Amino acid sequence: MINPFSKLGISDDVVNAVKELGFENPTPIQEQAIPVLLEGSNDFVGLAQTGTGKTAAFGLPLLELIDFKSNKPQALILCPTRELCLQIANDIKNFSKNKPGASVVAVYGGANIMQQLREIRNGVQIVVATPGRMLDIIGRKAIDFSNVNYVVLDEADEMLNMGFQEDINDILSTTPEDKKTWLFSATMPPEVRRIAKNYMENPIELTMGTKNTGNANIEHEYYVVRARDKYAALKRIVDYNPDIFGVVFCKTKMDTQDVAEHLIKDGYNADALHGDLSQQQRDKVMKRFRERSMQLLIATDVAARGIDVNDVTHVINFALPDEIESYTHRSGRTARAGKTGTSICIINSKELGKIRQIEKIIGKKFTKADLPTGFDVCEKQLFGLIHRVHNVEVNEEQIDKYMSRINDEFADLSKEEVIKKFASLEFNRFLEYYQNAPDLNISADERERGERGERRERGERGERGGRGAEAGYARLFINVGSVDDFTRGDLLSFVCNHGRISGKAVGKIDLKGVFSFVEVESATAETLLANFKDVQYNGREVRIEVSGEPARSGSRDGRRSGDRGGFGGDRRREGGGYRGGDRRSSGGSGRRSNGGSEGGFRDFSGRSREERSSGRREGGSDRRRRS
Ligand code: AMP
Repeated sequence: MINPFSKLGISDDVVNAVKELGFENPTPIQEQAIPVLLEGSNDFVGLAQTGTGKTAAFGLPLLELIDFKSNKPQALILCPTRELCLQIANDIKNFSKNKPGASVVAVYGGANIMQQLREIRNGVQIVVATPGRMLDIIGRKAIDFSNVNYVVLDEADEMLNMGFQEDINDILSTTPEDKKTWLFSATMPPEVRRIAKNYMENPIELTMGTKNTGNANIEHEYYVVRARDKYAALKRIVDYNPDIFGVVFCKTKMDTQDVAEHLIKDGYNADALHGDLSQQQRDKVMKRFRERSMQLLIATDVAARGIDVNDVTHVINFALPDEIESYTHRSGRTARAGKTGTSICIINSKELGKIRQIEKIIGKKFTKADLPTGFDVCEKQLFGLIHRVHNVEVNEEQIDKYMSRINDEFADLSKEEVIKKFASLEFNRFLEYYQNAPDLNISADERERGERGERRERGERGERGGRGAEAGYARLFINVGSVDDFTRGDLLSFVCNHGRISGKAVGKIDLKGVFSFVEVESATAETLLANFKDVQYNGREVRIEVSGEPARSGSRDGRRSGDRGGFGGDRRREGGGYRGGDRRSSGGSGRRSNGGSEGGFRDFSGRSREERSSGRREGGSDRRRRS
């Protein structure tokens, strides 16, 4: 039988190499793109998600088009991140392992440039690079691109998102006019279109699935919870999926760190990946995740770019992305290479509109799911445990010498009793923790209220339209906004905390870029302005003033700067933090135990288990509802 890759026109030495990698059949993108690219005579635009087999789609044809007798760079592949750069270079090295003389170099920042220069000097046909480091090397006149016949722009939308437009222009200007450009992108915003228009001549365009459509193997679900319950909801989802291997996305580095720290304290096997970590720390975290010695990777969008880990079962949007398009990139971390996966959004009722927008972009409907009850979790965990016990590999030689003593210990118990006790060992902790667990799902009533609030914030009712404040409210200017990673909820908490006012007094919040407007009941505005003294955020003095009046600033109020209350609660109230919980390993699968869980600590809402189970809420619930 003819190998399907041979049928597409790939030569035997490359076919043998991909066979060794376990590629039996081409993926849809490979099937469509390989014959076109093998012609080598056209520019090309491929609209495709990550994880679809893009690298081989362009990598295999490149290997057929390159003259490996020459040691001059003939192909340049530009991509947004170091991780992706290494991944692509590695894949192409594997594909070309049977091609004598083939040489691929990875050029990326944060690594020793001398080594990269040396490899280039030694002769190389394929250069895989991130734009910044590539420009640096071009600036040193250390590379000659006059023989480059093919330029691949991989994840073009991400490169533009990351601000590489200028760098790409400069790099492309050093390559020959008549080279062919192959562009791959998961989305096609106008900026990417512009690249296609400016740098390509009648490109052949292939769309895998419909435009901007997400991977068909991904199920999209959303859960509606109160903002203060988001963290508890996250844990419940994880507990309900004992074998989860997932990426949790947060909006800011700080949130990422916070969620990871809470999960770790609660006994989960998690870690954070964000831009404040050194390259070495990031590599370490990624290594642990790749090796699956960690179950949950908590990441920002930027840090997660280029993560190429197969078998991710879930992507969890702890916070929805600001840029709706980023959702496609996030969810593309699961269901790679033909597998299936689930992308989950934990939202509050005001965010339903965003879900509808995402649905339009991905061309797929979300399923509204209900958070499992405590009982559901216990049942799921119990049978997870039973399956693990059933499937555990027994080391006969080692255990044999203990068997007679073990049997003695159990001599007074029947087989049924022994089973019951083993099952209870793990199960009891979940049972104890979840027996009073509240229903985290938001009621239809609350949802309706939230949607009304969302419409009001979008100004759909128009009652507070224009620039003026609503009657009885003062419109205040504040010099922080979305560029500081504030959401409306964050800003509400920030203003209330520092102004020492109740959230009930706050009306419309108009979040802008570097500044915002907050409407506060006139009677309370004075209190707020009097208390809001010497407030700093990220080392910057924060000013609040009645819109149109001069700035106020003054003496210390004794509070720490940057107190964002970002999870919908006053973080200073977190108090004692984790208060116990059994963090022993659950054995068997080596996964984390979940001793602490929701009840064992003060969660982001600042409420203890006792307070929550008694249904009591701390003050400012109105404020939290808004956030
Ligand atoms: P990519 O989109 O190129 O990052 O590929 C995603 C994953 O799919 C990688 O782990 C590849 O090794 C794998 N892959 C690519 N093509 C095939 C194929 N034809 N058969 C099986 N796995 C593949």
